[in-house]
Amino acid sequence: MNANAMEADFFTEGTLVGVLTAEPLDRVLDYRAPEGGCEIGAFVEVPLGPRRVIGVVWGRGQGGYDPTKIRKIANVVDVAPMRPEMRQFLERAAQYTFTPLSAMLRLATRAPALGASPQARRLYTRGATTPARMTDARARVMDVIDEYGGAALSQTELALAAGVSSAVIKGLVEQGALAQVEAPRDAPFPALDHHLEGKNLSPDQADISRRLRHKIAAGGFGASLLKGVTGSGKTEVYLEAVAEALAKGQQALVLLPEIALSAEFLTRVEARFGARPAEWHSGITMAERRRVWKMVGEGAAQLVVGARSSLFLPFRDLGLVVVDEEHDASYKQEDGVFYNARDMAVLRGSVAGAQVILASATPSLETWANAEAGKYERFGLPARFGASELPQMSAIDMRLEDVPSGQWISPSLAHEVAARISAGEQSLLFLNRRGFAPITLCRACGVQIACDHCDARMVEHRFQKRLICHQCGETKDIPETCPACGVEGKLTALGPGVERIAEEAQALFPQARVAILSSDLFGSARALKAQIAEIAEGGCDIIIGTQLVAKGHNFPNLTLVGVVDADLGLHGSDLRAAERSFQLMHQVAGRAGRAEKAGVAMMQTYQPEHPVITAILANDDEGFWRAEAAMREAAAMPPYGRLAGIVISSPDLAECFDLGNHLARHDGALRQIQAQVFGPAPAPVARVRGRHRVRLLVKAPKGAPIQAALAHWLNGLKYSNKLRLSVDIDPQSFY
Ligand code: ADP
Ligand code: ZN
Repeated sequence: MNANAMEADFFTEGTLVGVLTAEPLDRVLDYRAPEGGCEIGAFVEVPLGPRRVIGVVWGRGQGGYDPTKIRKIANVVDVAPMRPEMRQFLERAAQYTFTPLSAMLRLATRAPALGASPQARRLYTRGATTPARMTDARARVMDVIDEYGGAALSQTELALAAGVSSAVIKGLVEQGALAQVEAPRDAPFPALDHHLEGKNLSPDQADISRRLRHKIAAGGFGASLLKGVTGSGKTEVYLEAVAEALAKGQQALVLLPEIALSAEFLTRVEARFGARPAEWHSGITMAERRRVWKMVGEGAAQLVVGARSSLFLPFRDLGLVVVDEEHDASYKQEDGVFYNARDMAVLRGSVAGAQVILASATPSLETWANAEAGKYERFGLPARFGASELPQMSAIDMRLEDVPSGQWISPSLAHEVAARISAGEQSLLFLNRRGFAPITLCRACGVQIACDHCDARMVEHRFQKRLICHQCGETKDIPETCPACGVEGKLTALGPGVERIAEEAQALFPQARVAILSSDLFGSARALKAQIAEIAEGGCDIIIGTQLVAKGHNFPNLTLVGVVDADLGLHGSDLRAAERSFQLMHQVAGRAGRAEKAGVAMMQTYQPEHPVITAILANDDEGFWRAEAAMREAAAMPPYGRLAGIVISSPDLAECFDLGNHLARHDGALRQIQAQVFGPAPAPVARVRGRHRVRLLVKAPKGAPIQAALAHWLNGLKYSNKLRLSVDIDPQSFY
């Protein structure tokens, strides 16, 4: 059904209406309009079997069912109805990503208890007393409250987040350690003042802001690439675009790739507009979630700063979407619904008639190509703001360095770190590998310790004193004896992770304060933010970090970036290996010299002549993209061709291959659009959580109707319920 079609927009009591629910049924169900009628787009509660679920009135009923069995809508929920633009966005997004519409609706209704009145809920926060006897479970409950910054949570939410039973919570309430508070009304967000003065812009910044403001003032859809080196003031510039949207009375959405980044950003928004915007990400409470969702729908939240899922909020009048660090891989969701938030932002903008700004120092090749082709307007900020200079880049040729085995920091790099320490400046050693060592090998029998459930090695995490599987999260004790041959004392850690580099750095510089920034070392986003703030204030001399540090943090005293292994991402079967490596190293290098002090970035490499390395050293990013684009175009690979990844998984390997082979043999629907199918083959990670994984790759010419062909190809397929088949349009990773 098309939300655009001409339809009556009000249904009187008893009329047959189609209701879309978030239940995995993938069809719109017929109901009768309730007493008082309902309008199209209304959020309603409907009986479904023995339950009541939330749904949206999607249009006229289909009919064709036994009319006596059709049930009535229970009631209309008191929230703003879903706008036609939003219904159209969900339909197009479902169609593009090859996802059931019901799953899209689920993304759009991720706010709890939409049907309930806020007064009906009880929330708990820290009480006046501390518990008499502090058990582990009780401590976890109190920690959860701290994590949410002292906010009030519901009993279910607390119990779930702390992993305790409701009895533990009741106990704490009885003791007065938890206090019951009135659920806050869903209050509007404080108004943002677009009249406040922004910073004094440089001529380049002012020119781009003026042009962006003009586009927003003119209205309608358009997409722009805002390409500027790190520290050039992209954020300042797009905040001007936000100001224009606010001035027009429209709403704006800024997507950020990492929650940890949002703290700094919120402060900047507050400085610019006099109040904080609404936040939407996994670190907000259920009560806040509900508030944001409702206020966005009522237009009482002017600006939302959020993670990718904020694209599915019910904006009343969206004027601008900004995707900051648009190249970031975390915009691709690969869990449940497969979608790329950058692409969905452009779709949302086009449906809503809003402007979309994609900002990055190192855009994705897709976006770069769209700008080259003139589909996106291009704005460039070639220099850093003010006195701050881009870091000097150089390579350290590891073939010429004398590095003892089991160590990774070359004498040349160590020399530079030492110089920073004596100057009272900070160094960052970057290695994109969590843990202590990626491989634990038995020197007696040669076995490498692997996960029992996955086709993956266990990674030693020395701080946690565990071996961890990075695929499924399973952990094991670090054994004394080899689990395969039983020989004692022969297990050896091979290769470096950040923890091991930290150990090496500490041994080289015993007086230095060393800090590790790696996502697994922090129990919560709050702890991570605190650590980042401490480092920014000068709380350490050497930072050892994974890609977590590549993302936009400002460390004013950081003047040296050392890339421990610049070769790490250069090879591999991944189509985007070179692009990713280039982006990552560019971003990491950009952490150096953000303030008055000049910075230096050094890359340890065994292949200084590799094109990616030479492009980075020469600061020739346009050259790099052109070369990369030419290669992709010659191979008809994205963005010059289209891909869809199919993963078939099951505990039974033969079953996966049977279905895969069946699909490969019956590829008529694909051949009709000149698409090819490759595979089935074991996926690069051939087993995860006990399920075998087999993949097929469909490659189609650019512009071919790949979704329609896939639908035709997969239509009517029958398989056992142990088996799962997932379709990933424009896959980003090939694991
Ligand atoms: P980017 O988003 O491109 O990395 P930012 O917008 O974060 O760059 O700017 C980098 C730093 O320079 C920030 O601290 C920012 O406040 C500062 N800055 C940028 N432009 C200006 C300006 N016109 N006036 C004052 N400070 C600025
Ligand atoms: Zn595993």
